Amino acid sequence: MSDTQGMAAGGDLTADERELVAAALAARAHAYAPYSRFHVGAALRGDDGSVVTGANVENAAYPATICAERVAVGYAVAHGLRVFRQLAVAGTGSAVCTPCGTCRQVLNEFAPDLEVLAVGGGGAVARYLLGRDLLPDGFGPASLDSDQPPGATEDAG
Ligand SMILES: [Zn+2]
Repeated sequence: MSDTQGMAAGGDLTADERELVAAALAARAHAYAPYSRFHVGAALRGDDGSVVTGANVENAAYPATICAERVAVGYAVAHGLRVFRQLAVAGTGSAVCTPCGTCRQVLNEFAPDLEVLAVGGGGAVARYLLGRDLLPDGFGPASLDSDQPPGATEDAG
């Protein structure tokens, strides 16, 4: 386990981080999850310090469901916020709630260095760095300008 990825007790969080986790928990209360009953809230802190939140929104046509993290990203972008410093995501399971693969990809578009605070139903918090821990060698905007796939070296072949 690296120095950044790991479990944090509540007292190990900064005041800003506690605020972000509280915002994710508050958003979780508004989740619409009648099918899975897995309620999730997310809170994104922008580079200007502002916080936007999202909750998961399920649908009777299951694939139309959208995760809390992507609701927050959509809200942020619609309000002119595209640079994010930190994300808190809070689920209701006993394990800490990490972003799903689709959300990792969407977050990587805007913030490959994003710090993620994953919160469990019992209040445990784990820290991750998106690009290092959750989506290493991810495909992002720079990938479109590169003639090398992620991880390739010049003399590979
Ligand atoms: Zn997701």
